Amino acid sequence: MSNSEFEHPGLPKTHQNGGNSRRSFLKKAAAATVTLAGADLLALTVDSSINKSEPEGKIPWYSRVTRWGQTNITEKDPAHYDIDWWRKHWKSTQTQGVIINAGGIVAYYPSNVPLHRQAQFLGSRDLFGDLCRAAHEEGLAVFARMDSNRTHEEFYRAHPDWFAIDAEDKPYKAGELFITCVNSHYYSEHIPAILSEIAKLYHPEGFTDNSWSGLGRDSMCFCENCEKSFFGKTGREIPKVRNWDDSGYREWIRWNYSRRLEIWDLNNRITKSAGGPDCIWSGMNSGSVSEQSRSFRDYKEICRRADIIMLDSQARSDADGFQQNADTGKLIHGLLGWNKLVPESMAMYQAGRPTFRLASKPVPEARMWMVEGIAGGIQPWWHYVGASHEDRRIYHTAGPVFRWHKANEEFLVNRNPVATVGVVWSQQNMDFYGREEAEVMVELPWCGITQALLRARIPYLSVHADHIDRDAGQLSVLVLPNLGVMTDEQIASVRRFVKDGGGLIATGESSLYNEWGDRRSDYALGDLFGAHWEEQSQANSRSTLRKWADETYHTYLRLTPELRRNVDGPQTGMEPLVSGERHPVLKGFDETDIISFGGLLESVRTDSGAEVLMTFIPRFPIYPPETAWMREPKTNIPGLILNTISGGSSIIFMPADLDRQFGRNNLPDHGNLLANLIRWAAKDNIPLAVDCAGLVDCNIYHQPGRLILHMVNLTSAGTWRQPVDEFIPVGPVKVRVKLQDDVEGRSVKLLVSDQKISGTVEKGWVHFTVNKITDHEVVVIT
Ligand SMILES: [Zn+2]
Repeated sequence: MSNSEFEHPGLPKTHQNGGNSRRSFLKKAAAATVTLAGADLLALTVDSSINKSEPEGKIPWYSRVTRWGQTNITEKDPAHYDIDWWRKHWKSTQTQGVIINAGGIVAYYPSNVPLHRQAQFLGSRDLFGDLCRAAHEEGLAVFARMDSNRTHEEFYRAHPDWFAIDAEDKPYKAGELFITCVNSHYYSEHIPAILSEIAKLYHPEGFTDNSWSGLGRDSMCFCENCEKSFFGKTGREIPKVRNWDDSGYREWIRWNYSRRLEIWDLNNRITKSAGGPDCIWSGMNSGSVSEQSRSFRDYKEICRRADIIMLDSQARSDADGFQQNADTGKLIHGLLGWNKLVPESMAMYQAGRPTFRLASKPVPEARMWMVEGIAGGIQPWWHYVGASHEDRRIYHTAGPVFRWHKANEEFLVNRNPVATVGVVWSQQNMDFYGREEAEVMVELPWCGITQALLRARIPYLSVHADHIDRDAGQLSVLVLPNLGVMTDEQIASVRRFVKDGGGLIATGESSLYNEWGDRRSDYALGDLFGAHWEEQSQANSRSTLRKWADETYHTYLRLTPELRRNVDGPQTGMEPLVSGERHPVLKGFDETDIISFGGLLESVRTDSGAEVLMTFIPRFPIYPPETAWMREPKTNIPGLILNTISGGSSIIFMPADLDRQFGRNNLPDHGNLLANLIRWAAKDNIPLAVDCAGLVDCNIYHQPGRLILHMVNLTSAGTWRQPVDEFIPVGPVKVRVKLQDDVEGRSVKLLVSDQKISGTVEKGWVHFTVNKITDHEVVVIT
């Protein structure tokens, strides 16, 4: 790579685009079949039926462009955007497609759509047009980026009825900008006019949009368009207050979801009609399901429609770590299919906590987010804000990852995950069970289960509750992490899974609520759990349980039977009268009769065949230490229940919210116990064993004739606190992988350290040792 690539590109330069670029500009017909950079080198095995508009065997652009780049243009940039420099940067980073700001709040091209305001410093320049042509000349695909939903004041004055109105009849604003209403002509006429204009003038391959879904759940709109539409659909007025128990509010939630899907469909009709059948519109989506919920974006329905998901999830949160990115990739592919692409905007600037738009993010931090995304099936997309930077270090981050990605691309896309554990989720549960407390009620339990799996190096899949039947074939166990809301169909799917011999782990209030979030009289799966809900006191009212979930209490769980009598230690006078063998799920806890808990529990009624392995020890004081003794050392309140039903399925029901506690407090006892439970319910059918020190995220994929193991080393001083600024290698890493019918284990190749190593095949497993993993390693087994 030449050094010039890293020179400051910001010096004002005469804009030179003219006849030459225009002459070589690809005409509309050619644009649809343009050979995109690198596409001919890819050995992709995409099903050609993926897009019926393409000639047979031809893979559409959105299924083959796997490395993206974005210079998010600021209004100042048109004055000095150095396109030649950026062309070199596209090349040196092996970028195949670019996202270019086109229109919306401001236009980066001369637009004829009324009130489509020019970017402040655009002048006479057609910056979007120049960039679009340059990208096409380089053989790159172009996603024209829109930023809809806000306007300057003159637009508001011209069409006040296109804007969102609050309960006090005032327009919603974001800073100086006015926010448009999704039910107004802004979405049905203004944005479509811009999309058509851009498609016809410039022929971008497709469109994306930064904020297409309008106002979120927390900002209700009471404009006339909304009132009219809601009344027309439901015969009701828009509810004045947020109340999840009110059927009007619930209908308002669903009505909002369907409007966003209408916008999705409308925009696709517009862009395809103006730009050809492959000119798709794919608005950006979040990596967080709760964020999708708050924005009325139905991930399952969107993925059913989308040819590609443009993921806007630029950085990690400390609490979730980099592993959040692989988790997100798996969740979206579970909906979208593994033969489609999920590029993700990855900040090269200091995004996250805190954010500095113009400073380079430490390279290891940016790199770890990228490799964890790739490990979960996400495609990299570098993202800068602004077209020139005085912190030039920012330009060095993407290249190495992107070039490695290009060299190894065939192993990184179009692969199917290999896992026997399915963790079940649904957006309905996020909405109607999670309500305003989704983080505590839904996200923390999810995080605790997935973190326990990661820590134990057990590969898992995210399974949507509507897809249990579809995914059941490869799974040994389903985990319901406090999946409170379950529909009758979803419950029937779980029953089928268990009837066919599958294991089940359910926690907290799983299956206790119907699709609207109303509490049932008992767990719908209570007969499988061997446990039943008891409506016993005010204590288990919904609001009390939520309060309990939100805090950590000084409580414990007693492991049964107790083993104290047989081990060393001072006599306490509390020795059990009997002692015995413990169940294997309590393996590793032989030197203790209690573990810390943190939650509160009310009693559930258990069936006679069910086995209670832990009981609740109520809270007692922490301070002063003289008072820290158990007032009630034993209760009959079950914390963990095992039930084996006819047919041999292993079922675990855990009223104690150890998943939530682990998600919040990260105590190893909780993580170890959760891993034990999962292994037992899966009957030890786990296709991978990885032995080494450190925190390593392990995912396995299958392609015809080979297995691909992606291991990401999360061990770092910055694991739970941003940023990582130094890699800490782990190794040697001893690995055992279960082989498949078409994979013999003859050859083991490492794609990051670029070497072949020897493996031993024994009884259907291949054993090998990876000496060192610095940031990540990809092992290809054939
Ligand atoms: Zn409205």
